[in-house]
Amino acid sequence: MDWRQWDRIQEKIESGRRLSAEEGLFLFDPAVSVHRVGQLADRVCQRRHGRGVYYVQNAHLNPTNVCVLRCPICAYSRSAGDPDAFTMSEQEVLAQAQEAVEAGCTELHIVGGLHPEKPYPWYRDLLQVVHESFPRVHLKAWTAVEIAWFAELTGWPIRAVLEDLMEVGLGSLPGGGAEIFAPQVRQQISPKKIDAETWLAVHREAHRLGLRSNATMLYGHLETAADRIDHLVRLRQLQDETGGFLAFVPLAFHPGKTQFFHLPGPTGLDDLRVMAVSRLMLDNIPHMKAYWISLGVGTAQTALAYGANDMEGTVRQERIHHEAGSSAPQALSVEEICLLIRQAGRLPIQRDSLYRPIASAGAPSG
Ligand code: SF4
Repeated sequence: MDWRQWDRIQEKIESGRRLSAEEGLFLFDPAVSVHRVGQLADRVCQRRHGRGVYYVQNAHLNPTNVCVLRCPICAYSRSAGDPDAFTMSEQEVLAQAQEAVEAGCTELHIVGGLHPEKPYPWYRDLLQVVHESFPRVHLKAWTAVEIAWFAELTGWPIRAVLEDLMEVGLGSLPGGGAEIFAPQVRQQISPKKIDAETWLAVHREAHRLGLRSNATMLYGHLETAADRIDHLVRLRQLQDETGGFLAFVPLAFHPGKTQFFHLPGPTGLDDLRVMAVSRLMLDNIPHMKAYWISLGVGTAQTALAYGANDMEGTVRQERIHHEAGSSAPQALSVEEICLLIRQAGRLPIQRDSLYRPIASAGAPSG
């Protein structure tokens, strides 16, 4: 290992300077201790957020698993007519939203498939009816992949689609569909999905309209360390331009029920290194999310010492990662999340979808 390179990185981080792509790549070298990288990321994280760790009370709502793209990495989607294909009725959507609201959720995370027979108004009306029935709940809805699909269905520019959805209650965009930007890998894992430029263009347009959004990266499949760094640098560039990303969410790939079942998937140490390097590279995105559904509860908790400052939330009704074989529980209670955060030596802070703290009986202080 080149200790001079390590010293330079450390010195840059201590003085608040930005790491280059080459330095980021160095941090992915297995010869560099993941725990050292984690310590550096933790220092940066605590400098910014102290000991506070955020969580939100939220639920997922996946209105359909029918999707025309059928990405090879996807264990969730089905073709229309498959025995386990589903598409929820308006009543079912409202019943699920009602249950989430009664459980105290302040956010609904709404994503699904690109249904070949559903026109754009079906997606729009679904958002509108949920918003009108539960106006106080924040709707984080439709990934960039879905927004681009709506643009295709309507023939409208992306901006017009976003404006139209904002009128009926769209609150922010989730970060899904980014996968890995590198075209040679993207072509293999999700060949029909929008390319990196379109994904970034949707988020750029959303940010220009004042919407905030998240960004993800799916890792642990065919990508190289250089592909990961390229992905992070492209997100950092867009954030320099717009400042609209709230959080970055690294997503661990679960190969078991996908066409890549022969791959081993990431190890716990890979998970921790990706989190730490992301914190160090993404110096302009405030929040790093330890998404326990994808990482598993234990690794997510450990990631709080590797640069993460957000444990996501209660996540009721999640289907996409569970379909892929995630062994994480179906949901966590507020008490369980707060306990996990406290056990990691951090302070739980309940937040809303825009990271404003919420005073809550479920989030004891201290
Ligand atoms: S990953 Fe998303 S776009 Fe691809 S098949 Fe699954 S639901 Fe459809």
